[in-house]
Amino acid sequence: MRQTSGKNAHGQRSLGRRQFLLASGATVAGMAIWGYEHAGFGRVDAAAKEPKQVKIVDFTDAGERKGIVLVPMIQKTDAEWKAQLSPASYQVTRHEGTEAPFTGANLNVHDKGVFRCICCDTALFSSGTKFESGTGWPSFWQPIAKENVIESLDTSLGMERTAVSCRRCEAHLGHVFDDGPQPTGLRYCMNSVALRFAKAS
Ligand SMILES: [Zn+2]
Repeated sequence: MRQTSGKNAHGQRSLGRRQFLLASGATVAGMAIWGYEHAGFGRVDAAAKEPKQVKIVDFTDAGERKGIVLVPMIQKTDAEWKAQLSPASYQVTRHEGTEAPFTGANLNVHDKGVFRCICCDTALFSSGTKFESGTGWPSFWQPIAKENVIESLDTSLGMERTAVSCRRCEAHLGHVFDDGPQPTGLRYCMNSVALRFAKAS
């Protein structure tokens, strides 16, 4: 009886050891596969996520043109934008929102300077092209450089409008209409919360 139970005990120990070895082997193999795949996917992800380069024009806060620069696009997750921006700026720039008219801090700014993207600081409009449109939204007759904005067809709300976004981070800024003053006849109707005013020093 003692022998039998000894055998049993030995058998159980052996089995236990075999199971352990099998388990270890499987774990090592699993880790190796995970490591290989992870490294592989990592490389693919890095290549796919490598930001596209865009050409924009760099400006001082006084509106002086510094030249064309090649810069990576700014791409962030929705959660990252939400953490960075005020709720109003986040809603307008990342979800094509529109602020209520006559509410924005940039509406009555008349100092000399540059209106920059609230998301990525790209120069978008010069104070020299700002005019009183009476709409309640900051209005400009042209962007500071055509390279710095994207204009695209917007068919939302049953209308055909031209939406204006930031070239570098694709923030929605507002719309452009053809009822503006000379010399362009255009009215860039912007959301105040999409802009940060940088006063000329
Ligand atoms: Zn931007």
